[in-house]
Amino acid sequence: MEHFTAKNQYGKEGPNGGGIFKKDYPFKIPNILQYKAYSLHNFRKIPQMCDLPEKLKFEIEVVAQVFPFKTNTYVINELINWHNIPNDPIFRLTFPQKEMLLPHHYDKISKLLTLGAEKEVIDKVVDEIHEELNPHPAGQMEHNVPLLEDERLSGLQHKYRETVLFFPSKGQTCHAYCSFCFRWPQFTGKDEYKFAMRETSLLIEYLKRHPEVSDVLVTGGDPMIMNSRSLRHYLEPLIHADLPSLQTIRIGTKSLGFWPYKYLHSLESEEVLSLFRKIVDSGKHLAIMAHFTHPRELSTPAVRAAIKRIRSTGAVIRTQSPVLRHINDDPDIWARMWKLQVKLGCVPYYMFVVRNTGAQHYYGLSLERTYEIYQEAIQQVSGLARTVRGPSMSAMPGKVHITGLFDIKGEKVFGLNMLQARRPDIVMQPFFAKYNPEATWLDELKPAFGEKKFPFE
Ligand SMILES: *Cc1c(COP(=O)(O)O)cnc(C)c1O
Ligand code: SF4
Repeated sequence: MEHFTAKNQYGKEGPNGGGIFKKDYPFKIPNILQYKAYSLHNFRKIPQMCDLPEKLKFEIEVVAQVFPFKTNTYVINELINWHNIPNDPIFRLTFPQKEMLLPHHYDKISKLLTLGAEKEVIDKVVDEIHEELNPHPAGQMEHNVPLLEDERLSGLQHKYRETVLFFPSKGQTCHAYCSFCFRWPQFTGKDEYKFAMRETSLLIEYLKRHPEVSDVLVTGGDPMIMNSRSLRHYLEPLIHADLPSLQTIRIGTKSLGFWPYKYLHSLESEEVLSLFRKIVDSGKHLAIMAHFTHPRELSTPAVRAAIKRIRSTGAVIRTQSPVLRHINDDPDIWARMWKLQVKLGCVPYYMFVVRNTGAQHYYGLSLERTYEIYQEAIQQVSGLARTVRGPSMSAMPGKVHITGLFDIKGEKVFGLNMLQARRPDIVMQPFFAKYNPEATWLDELKPAFGEKKFPFE
């Protein structure tokens, strides 16, 4: 077997890094553990695809024109149950589904492909469809970009007083793509949609001037797509900057779900873990905000070993995911997932309502059903798994928590609460909305009891 060299696998900035593996490094990595991505151009070469009907492959081809598509060897070989296609939840999570496109959009693209239309013609139609799919939910683009002496810091978002989001430019892709993801405009190759910043120095400058910020949330894409060198380049200056107001560095990542080998079996993984240890030793809290959609992602030996190794650095793993129709819209799935997380030492943190963007018509659930799933799931777990906050909508004014369905003086209402808000004075302010069994998002709700507006309006 050949020595594992990162260069011939991923190029320089691939998920396991370039130039890190030395010729004389003693570990040899078996083929099955080597990261390989599949997307629109090569998914037909996935061995497990061979036996699937051509119709399904064509549907993938059509939908992948509109939504980003990427999967990898771990997802294919260790997560997906290929005896249950197309219903397998992890297959649905990473492979495009016909129903993700509205029928008239699907027909348009499928006709163009069948006719062998020019790329420019297809791209134009795809652009039009993108614009119809609410590509910037929750006003992310315009509203949260902070200023430093009149310069717009486009790789930062400062939405809540104590938390700043940091989008390192090298972390704007993922080990595989979730088909429901609201960050899809960032992956479709349009620069104007990318929030990116090259340097940590502007972030540090900003934090110095904003001591109210205690948390930096490094996010993407998936920052853990970066090799240890890039991660160090972004994070070491932050811990060396001696910012007393900075308490917590959070890293939002799906690498434990999609590529746990990031933390196993290589010199590169040792470097990543030693960076984690360094952050913890500097006196900051390191929180790995791990995205797990389904208990299957917590079931492999690889993910369990990876969780153990991350926890041994002193980092805490907190978990989050949206509730998705066709993938995890079942209380038993959530109960199983939270129990497993607690058993493995992770802390359940957020359960989200899926956002009103992209293929929401396929993944979306009514707020009422989402709440039922939450309640029936939380009833099955012990207090240690009830740390989860949800279901909540991360919307323009803040995070709106659905606290229940009430019948008050003959009026049926949703109980709501602001878990987070742009305006700190309305955090944890409870309020009510008229019951609407169809509502899937905040913008479909109206204040109850004759009120004119919601607290955030
Ligand atoms: C959830 C969220 C945060 C973090 O909020 P916490 O309540 O501190 O976990 C930050 N920014 C955005 C945009 C969010 O949705
Ligand atoms: S890993 Fe996160 S950012 Fe990447 S596609 Fe999935 S949800 Fe989106």
